[in-house]
Amino acid sequence: MSTTIAESVKLLDKVALIACGRRAGKTASCAACARKAPALLNIAATGALDALAAAICGSHSSACQDCHTKAETIIDETVEVPCVA
Ligand SMILES: [Zn+2]
Ligand SMILES: [Zn+2]
Repeated sequence: MSTTIAESVKLLDKVALIACGRRAGKTASCAACARKAPALLNIAATGALDALAAAICGSHSSACQDCHTKAETIIDETVEVPCVA
């Protein structure tokens, strides 16, 4: 079974949607957020919350509270926990 590519595409969609602003009934991000998603996912993989928030916000130094919350959500939902035994 090889679902790796499909899984990572799903993950990118999710990251894009969170960055764009997730709400009920919304199933896809805008094109701009979809384009940013691979970079956001890369940052999320490093666990750098501030850098991720800044990337979502489009700022180099500081992000707004809203984007900090989005960054936390992305890290929460993308970090894999392979073994919790
Ligand atoms: Zn968007
Ligand atoms: Zn922001």
